[in-house]
Amino acid sequence: MSPVTVTPRSPSDRSIVLRAFASDEGLTREQLLLAPVRWPRPSRLEEALDVAPGKAADGLRSLGLTSVGALLEHLPRDSRDARTVSGLRAGEAATVAVQVRTISARPVRRRGMKPLVEASVFDETGTMRATFFNQPWLVQRYKPGTRLVLHGKATARGAFNVAHHALGSDLGADFAAGENGASGEIVAHYPATEGLSSTQILTLVHGCRGALADVPEALGAAVRVSERLPDRAGALGAMHFAGAIEEREAGRRRLAFEELLLTQLVFLRRRARRRSGRGAPALDQAPALSERWLKGELPFALTGDQRRAIATIDGDLAQERAMQRLLLGEVGSGKTVVAVWALLRAVEHGLQAALMAPTETLAEQHFATLQQLLGGEQANVTCALLTGSTPARRRADTLGKLAGGELSLIVGTHALIEPDVEFRALGVVVVDEQHRFGVRQRAALDAKAGMGADGRRLAPHVLHMTATPIPRTLALANYGDLDTTMLRELPKGRQPIETRIVSGESERERAYGQLREQLRLGRQAYVVCPLIEQVEGEEAGAGTPTDLRTATAELERLRKGELEDHRLVLLHGGMKPREKAQAMEQFASGAVDVLVATTVIEVGIDVPNATVMLIENAERFGISQLHQLRGRVGRGEHRSLCLLMGPPGTARLRALQQHADGFELAAIDLRLRSEGELIGVRQSGLGQHRIACLPEDADLLERARARAETIVAADPQLQAPEHALLGDALERAFGAETLEPIPA
Ligand code: ADP
Ligand code: MG
Repeated sequence: MSPVTVTPRSPSDRSIVLRAFASDEGLTREQLLLAPVRWPRPSRLEEALDVAPGKAADGLRSLGLTSVGALLEHLPRDSRDARTVSGLRAGEAATVAVQVRTISARPVRRRGMKPLVEASVFDETGTMRATFFNQPWLVQRYKPGTRLVLHGKATARGAFNVAHHALGSDLGADFAAGENGASGEIVAHYPATEGLSSTQILTLVHGCRGALADVPEALGAAVRVSERLPDRAGALGAMHFAGAIEEREAGRRRLAFEELLLTQLVFLRRRARRRSGRGAPALDQAPALSERWLKGELPFALTGDQRRAIATIDGDLAQERAMQRLLLGEVGSGKTVVAVWALLRAVEHGLQAALMAPTETLAEQHFATLQQLLGGEQANVTCALLTGSTPARRRADTLGKLAGGELSLIVGTHALIEPDVEFRALGVVVVDEQHRFGVRQRAALDAKAGMGADGRRLAPHVLHMTATPIPRTLALANYGDLDTTMLRELPKGRQPIETRIVSGESERERAYGQLREQLRLGRQAYVVCPLIEQVEGEEAGAGTPTDLRTATAELERLRKGELEDHRLVLLHGGMKPREKAQAMEQFASGAVDVLVATTVIEVGIDVPNATVMLIENAERFGISQLHQLRGRVGRGEHRSLCLLMGPPGTARLRALQQHADGFELAAIDLRLRSEGELIGVRQSGLGQHRIACLPEDADLLERARARAETIVAADPQLQAPEHALLGDALERAFGAETLEPIPA
């Protein structure tokens, strides 16, 4: 059919068309072409918002809402964003669901100002004073007992300035019947800003409602049908305008699915690209040194998980494509042995190997452990340590030997990725406690690989290790481009760690008694404090750092008090590297009994004779941090004890008392706080989701992963017509480079 332009000759022409759709009147072709057809016009989304200059326009700009499309993508708050009263931090904008206890108006001195309204409000975690400005009538409206959702800013402990408020439903967390809705119907509640209220945003969104039809649809119809998801326009519309929570949630889940699908596509395509690359040296010769070491030098038998991990890694290393594997292992599960084995595989192929750790203390400890573990094989492996405090002369010497190939194994910190560090031929890299490194730092070692024997650039095999126990879903969400292996099994003979919450003076005394008893039995102990030294000039009072035991002061106190008969040493991040190394050395060798430290000992430190860990102000630490700290004890054959000094009711402390399994704790941690705060999630960038909410959306994540796998398997370049819009969406979300073709 050739295109025909038809202009209505008369209004009656149009009415014939409209009537025809409801009757059996015949239509001519010309008349048919007049039928009101509409198709998406994405350019509409780029149009600027029509708002007069002023406060509201400024507010829109500050929220980045300058176009129709951006406004439609500015989604209402989810009830899950809500905080608890006790969880508010001063200076932070937040939403809380509360109930009114008392409310009253307070006149303001300044003329022309309406009285302030002050309400004492509470939730199950605490009470605060909420101040409303310029709305004296609220005293009548919000009677004691009323449930409210407040959005605004916490100004100090227990004080909150309200910027936006709505009645809360009995469910508490849902945003029900606000000022602009009929009762019983939910009204969208948007992240707002100064000069621009949520209500104004809602009005603007209403004005742009027509443009919803112009929103491009990234998901093909087949995907939508089989996943039973609404189309994008419908989902956005539901989030903005739906009156029922279920409808909104359906819309949100659709958008969340798309978001997760895009991330997984990026991961899987990245992985496919890496797989297609050749560059890595195939470490496929029969083991010699590594085997000899495993059989002859290790003082223990490997656990089943360790054996399986080694077999998997062996398979990876034999390939010409670079390994990128994440070894997720519970604290104390014995990751180091697996790492050493991988390093030795490189060495026995005549290549170099590097082990990078996030702190000097840990790098030094790894270096010492390595020498000890290597035992008689030390003669066959030249090994050096490189950290920021390596003296210049030794550093120059080490760099020379690395570039010349005389050194086969190097252990170090970030110092390994400095520009002048060169390797002759780097075959294997192990990054320990990888969550402590940024993405770029992790990539930097890759770039140092050097040249293979045939003159090709090498891509080293990389093993990432982390003890941050994250559930499978989160691993997928954050490390979806890495292959993962888990060590869940602890070495045999480990004694469980008894964990106790210690509150009040008499319990404290008993705790020190237990600690001393262990010391008398020849064991050692850690005392962990949250701070190094008292902050000068801090005013005393609840919640200020002066309540906290500081490492320096605590060392002095214990020396004169509870632990006067024992040898104590201090370790904190502010000490000079040499002092730190010395303190660690003294503790590891058993020359001192107690290490009084800050959280510098959280990662990796391994002194099996230490059986007591006493943590001051334990309520100040997060669950995963406490779990890491606790993992420093219970490493030998002796029964160990972890004493958490803190208030008895703290949910986090109780979780530690009840659970030993890091994965279980990670799941609890997730429930207790928002996803983004989990260590190792925030830094990864890609793992942050705008709409998806983990772990609640775990089912969506699994589905998105499966769908992404199907798509990448069938059409890795996303060239099929039904994937074109998906490609566009990827480019919008992550930039054009994510679409670079994958070499066949
Ligand atoms: P992590 O996984 O936390 O890094 P490490 O590698 O430091 O754990 O190992 C913890 C302790 O367990 C070390 O003292 C190590 O020598 C010991 N260990 C490792 N594997 C075994 C095993 N299979 N049997 C007994 N002890 C082991
Ligand atoms: Mg370790």
